[in-house]
Amino acid sequence: MISKCANPACSARFLYLHTGKLFRFELEASEDEGPFLGFDPSVRKHSRGVEFFWLCESCAEVLTLVYYPSIGVTTRWRRPELKAS
Ligand SMILES: [Zn+2]
Repeated sequence: MISKCANPACSARFLYLHTGKLFRFELEASEDEGPFLGFDPSVRKHSRGVEFFWLCESCAEVLTLVYYPSIGVTTRWRRPELKAS
C-alpha cells in the first residue's frame, strides 16, 4: 500500500488520489532472473505482481517514474522540451 511519495527525497504523505500522479508497474520477482533457455511464459507467470507508486503533486511536475528490471522503480526528471513535436 502506498504511504508516501515515491521520491525518496520527498516526505509528502499519500492522502488523496486526485492529487499528484499514480503509477502502475508490473514487476517480476528477482529470483526468476537467470539463464532461461526455454521461453515458456507460464514459468514466469507466478512471479509477476502489480505495484502502485505515487508521486505527490509537486514531484509529479518535475519527475516521472520508470521501471528497469535490473534496478526496479526509480525517479527520472521529466523533459517536457523533448516531447514529440
Ligand atoms: Zn513528492
